[in-house]
Amino acid sequence: MGQEYKDINKEELDNLVTDEQLYEGKAKKVFATEDPNLVLVSYKDDATAFDGTKRGTIRGKGAVNNQMSNYLMNLLENEGIPTHLYKEVNETDTLVKHVDIIPLEVIVRNISAGSFANHYGVEEGIVFDQPTFEFSYKNDDLHDPLLNSSHALALKLATPEEIKTLREYALKVNDILKEFFLSCGVTLVDFKLEFGRTPDGTVILADEISPDTCRFWDVETGEKLDKDRFRRDLGNVEDAYQEMMHRIFG
Ligand code: UDP
Repeated sequence: MGQEYKDINKEELDNLVTDEQLYEGKAKKVFATEDPNLVLVSYKDDATAFDGTKRGTIRGKGAVNNQMSNYLMNLLENEGIPTHLYKEVNETDTLVKHVDIIPLEVIVRNISAGSFANHYGVEEGIVFDQPTFEFSYKNDDLHDPLLNSSHALALKLATPEEIKTLREYALKVNDILKEFFLSCGVTLVDFKLEFGRTPDGTVILADEISPDTCRFWDVETGEKLDKDRFRRDLGNVEDAYQEMMHRIFG
């Protein structure tokens, strides 16, 4: 697969990437390339929350999410988690392996927050003895409802083997990232992952890992360094994204 593009120069990149936009999501655009196994992901500064009802712009977010996600995917790849990462091409754009996204949001939590605290009527900040693992059905029309493994099987969203793999990978990602972020002075509260299938059916980690998809709290002060600053109008939204960049890249 496309190995010859690994050390890609500008001209090769221009020849590889097409203008054909395959998809535009809330935070990213995806473009086709001349290689059917690769797509170009372009991260935007657009931010949405609460099912797209709250909209805004977070200056510099696209660059932070792209570079941070790639750094973490590379770290995970080195620890044995297969990922979609192929090659970062600039601050906001990355070539990734083309996959079919499994329509399940895979959520792991170490500390109560957000919808967990709301659903179960508990305060934020309860540290769990064990991480929790849950799925949401990735379906905007239905507002991404929570569902369990038997529901996912009934809806044929994934096979039993795939569900086992998603759980194993997600919990391993949690172990690796919890330790990594602690070394950056950041508590990993919870996060959402998405996985995809390559043409041969292999399940790999896809989408992004960023302040849009994780909750990060400063270890010392508890300050929120993630998208909750946007969701909850806490101010200093851009600063929080930049701070996470500094924590990771120095
Ligand atoms: N999350 C996400 N996309 C979603 C829903 C959740 O990236 O569509 C992330 C969110 O940033 C948090 C974790 O998944 O890190 C758990 O989110 P939660 O279920 O608490 O939902 P929220 O309170 O964000 O609606």
